[in-house]
Amino acid sequence: MTKFIFVTGGVISSLGKGITSASIGKILESRLLKVTLMKLDPYINVDPGTMNPYQHGEVYVTEDGAETDLDLGHYERFISSPMTKFNNVTTGQIYNAVISRERRGDYLGKTIQVIPHITNEIKERIKKVAEVSCADIVIIEIGGTVGDIESLPFLEAARQFTLDKGRENVLYVHVTLVPYIKCSQEIKTKPTQHSVGTLREIGIQPDVLICRTEKPLTAELKDKISLFCNVAKETVIEARDVESIYQVPLVFKEQVLDEIILSHFKLISKFSELKEWEKNVIEKAINPKKKVCIALVGKYIALQDAYKSIYEALSHAGIHNDAKIEIRKIDSEDLEKANAKEVFEGACGILVPGGFGYRGIEGKIKAIRFSRENKIPFLGLCLGMQCAVIEFARTCCGLKDANSTEFRPKTKYPVISLLEEQKKIKDLGGTMRLGAYPCKIKNNTAAFRVYGKNLVLERHRHRYEFNNKYKKLFQEKGMVFSGVYQKNNLAEIVEVKGHPYFIAVQFHPEFKSKPDYSHPLFREFIKAALKLAV
Ligand code: GLN
Repeated sequence: MTKFIFVTGGVISSLGKGITSASIGKILESRLLKVTLMKLDPYINVDPGTMNPYQHGEVYVTEDGAETDLDLGHYERFISSPMTKFNNVTTGQIYNAVISRERRGDYLGKTIQVIPHITNEIKERIKKVAEVSCADIVIIEIGGTVGDIESLPFLEAARQFTLDKGRENVLYVHVTLVPYIKCSQEIKTKPTQHSVGTLREIGIQPDVLICRTEKPLTAELKDKISLFCNVAKETVIEARDVESIYQVPLVFKEQVLDEIILSHFKLISKFSELKEWEKNVIEKAINPKKKVCIALVGKYIALQDAYKSIYEALSHAGIHNDAKIEIRKIDSEDLEKANAKEVFEGACGILVPGGFGYRGIEGKIKAIRFSRENKIPFLGLCLGMQCAVIEFARTCCGLKDANSTEFRPKTKYPVISLLEEQKKIKDLGGTMRLGAYPCKIKNNTAAFRVYGKNLVLERHRHRYEFNNKYKKLFQEKGMVFSGVYQKNNLAEIVEVKGHPYFIAVQFHPEFKSKPDYSHPLFREFIKAALKLAV
């Protein structure tokens, strides 16, 4: 029988519930259990696909083409089970389903209410994931903070799970803040007491408390938290700030959280350590021998979460190459007026990420030209590839003012444009080219040297494509189309000859990188950058 772990958060947001959930997944997987994770998001959008990155952070794309919360990225980086469209549930999806059913007449005669109709729908979605994944344990992270109006139906559904499945099959983990007050030099437990109090009013008694703290928790403090929150002392877990997020599973394992969970569920499983993870990931993440500076030219650089998977993929490439990656974040709009030579001084690689809209595009194009002409390793992702194509058209093919029809619908040289099937689309939500598509890689290209194979599956999230009308001209001028989606003859990877590393891809390799398996495109990008580093 599947067991269920609900992870809630209290006191403040951004406590690291996602990393906590993923780390619990990791330590349970290390005990040879099959684990999957879910994120329940209280907002009313059906998915985060139409939200501004400044509102929501990155949109993470799953293999099956769902646009999801970035926490699913953490889940895939920590555990081995793939995430699917079923693993992220929003209030919008729940209400959408219930209201459609009501309109069809499925509930004829009944008044539709939050309890039981909305909560039933939430529970059904969780049970479905348990069924489809065949997992021993499903970990369900509830977005938001306890006390929010929006997350109440999710918490109520979590409470009801105990009635449906039995107390021994459900575990409640609460992530909370134990702040240190500098002027009085004291660690305070009151916010945690209040937050657990609120949770208990809803009917949930947490079994485990994950206490986020800057300072170590003394035995006295743990006693106090245990007493006031009605939680056993050994299940008050200290989660002190660590250097790398990938250390968190080890921190939990040191406090035998895996044992605590197994004994709650009365599960017996072989003991195992996280030695490989410690050796191959943590040691290299913390004590790298080399150092390299990479410039990231984007328009959402002010928010750490907007390019989450890219930062992580770079750090994985650093782990692989035994190098610390120093990321220089460059605002693409500011770059338009700046001196590129000064801005990129000391940077050994330039990365241009994905994005939407015209703002900042000319800065990205300027960065790409600089990297191409000065032979600085370049990696372009999605919009980054489209900008590389525009730059090449303008500088190398004599197509003055070439552009994408996304930015200049009437451009004379639409080197990036919409496919016929995309032109008909009216709804913006969930209608891009999404999810994994096969890409055929040509022999004797840089892409083939990087991947070492002819067929790869990579994830997409875009509407616009390279316009094949210009392919022949581009080839004559030295651009190589090294990866193609054969079915529709779409350009997926472009590169330029005679450059140490100039690869741009229409997809998002960052979504498939893991700490113990750096994505080849990032791995080789950093390797090339390190050759320039002094
Ligand atoms: N705006 C571009 C498109 O829709 C690129 C999208 C992206 O970078 N994810 O095609």
